[in-house]
Amino acid sequence: MTSDAGVHSYSAVLMGSPILLKLFEDNPTLASQVFRLIKQQENLFTVNRAESEVMAINQAAGRHPVVVSAPVFALISVAHAVSILPDSAFNFTIGPVVKRWKIGFRGREVPPAAEIEALLRLTDPHQVVLDAEQRSVFLPLPGMEIDLGAIAKGYIADVVQAFLRQQGVAQALINLGGNVQTLGSPPHQPQGWGIGLKKPFGRDDELLGTLQVQGKSVVTSGIYERYFERDGRCWHHIFDPRTGYPLDNELLSVTVIADRSLDGDIYTTLLYGMGAEQGLAYLAGQPEIDAVFVTRDRQIICSPARHFRFSQLDFSWQLRH
Ligand code: FAD
Ligand code: MG
Ligand code: MG
Repeated sequence: MTSDAGVHSYSAVLMGSPILLKLFEDNPTLASQVFRLIKQQENLFTVNRAESEVMAINQAAGRHPVVVSAPVFALISVAHAVSILPDSAFNFTIGPVVKRWKIGFRGREVPPAAEIEALLRLTDPHQVVLDAEQRSVFLPLPGMEIDLGAIAKGYIADVVQAFLRQQGVAQALINLGGNVQTLGSPPHQPQGWGIGLKKPFGRDDELLGTLQVQGKSVVTSGIYERYFERDGRCWHHIFDPRTGYPLDNELLSVTVIADRSLDGDIYTTLLYGMGAEQGLAYLAGQPEIDAVFVTRDRQIICSPARHFRFSQLDFSWQLRH
């Protein structure tokens, strides 16, 4: 725990990610409860260990449906709905591709094209059978795998926010490593929380600017978070479900500002697939969502800022509204 100007910060490593909780009281008991809650959630959704509800579904692929708990069924239903949207870059059955590339894990490599081609046949979200009455999930092809890595942290950030609210906390911040969720504003800072927008491939303290938000979630997906370099290229962990290769467009990162971190997590992936121009056009019809796109040609492109204020810090990048 560290304390600075009334802020008490608590940290942990969970879900393979650095977790940071900021409170305005010295309350290690509450912090432990929050970390325990995240751990319980991780145990439901992880695909990085042999046992979880999601792993039970994956292990029964091609054999039989698996009955899951209500929260797992609910999150899978959301992931399924987003995955079957026309032209969606989000695909929750991308698991076999993620597992083969191993980006962020030991043994990462660029797989042979023929293998990627074969794995893509196991990533059709339309094939997943959801039975709401039984609360069961069935993956009909052996080798199919659900991966909720692009959505579960968002969901869990919202669960933590609800828990803190229930405990009577009015001002707090939780960062699950890319997914920030806030409650209220810090004391004496009516303009809200300042959330750093990282300089892609920069040091942790190198920021392009700060986003000022009150009670909102700020979610960033970037190609510089988990990647490796081979053959002069950066192979990162956000896959194009159409090709099985990392999404390759003009973007370095997408940040979404929304009430729910779940929405932020979904939209970062969807907008990543759209690219900045199409993404901005799409957001014009989504007044509850804002986004900031950071591009390879050093532009910071903000949607009409309805729910945040952006303060630029690095002026060697061009800001566009
Ligand atoms: P996001 O951009 O939000 O999501 C990227 C992730 O989504 C990818 O890593 C992949 O898992 C998946 N994905 C890729 N492409 C697509 C696509 N087109 N559509 C849908 N999904 C896609 N990391 C560890 O190193 N060790 C762990 O033990 C570990 N355990 C975890 C347990 C849980 C419950 C969760 C949620 C995550 C865990 N992670 C772990 C991190 C995980 O491997 C991902 O790296 C992480 O979820 C990525 O989140 P993000 O916000 O950085 O990226
Ligand atoms: Mg995320
Ligand atoms: Mg995401």
